Amino acid sequence: MPAEFWNKTDQNLVLTQEEQDFLSTSAAERYALAEEIVLNKKMQQLLDLANDRRKAAIATPGNAFDKDTCGYDLRLDVVGVPVEFAQFVKSPQGEAIFTANNHGLTAEGAFTDEQKELITRGGGGDEGAGWDAVTAGMCDKRRCRPHNGWYNIFTKGTRHMMKELARQAKEKLDAETRVREAAAVKYFRKRHEKNTVRYWDKEAGEWVDTPKV
Ligand code: ZN
Repeated sequence: MPAEFWNKTDQNLVLTQEEQDFLSTSAAERYALAEEIVLNKKMQQLLDLANDRRKAAIATPGNAFDKDTCGYDLRLDVVGVPVEFAQFVKSPQGEAIFTANNHGLTAEGAFTDEQKELITRGGGGDEGAGWDAVTAGMCDKRRCRPHNGWYNIFTKGTRHMMKELARQAKEKLDAETRVREAAAVKYFRKRHEKNTVRYWDKEAGEWVDTPKV
């Protein structure tokens, strides 16, 4: 295809209405896929933050965390649930974690009031011992079964999802390219047929196109 073809040629002359509809629908679907990939990246970011925080808690003296402590963060409940996660990212809590200046899982506003209350109430049994900034919000069970392997399992999930979404987007783009190329070939052939007469050159042994007079 000549360079700049699609920029310099009126698309209405090249593409049928049906082809144009197909291309715009496909492009919109690719856009939605790209947005979903961004969401999955953010899920992974949240997982990484939680994993780092668990490690930091284990390394910090003064709490009961060790390598057998679960460390699952209750804010990970939205991971793997795309609709809820999208709302979470846009919520004040999500903004505090992902976009605020001093962002992260311990940023100002990173816990909702309900979560704070829940954590303080369930704070290890001792009265008044509800809030430890280093471990707040993390599951403190040792060899916890319900959350077993949470980081690796969820990471595998988001990676798989991102790959799958990228594959779908590429498939759509390839289909769009095929439609465009076929339409362009058709366009050139039509123009060619209109403007030239083709005859068989016996001596040269090939078809020759000459401009119509
Ligand atoms: Zn747990």
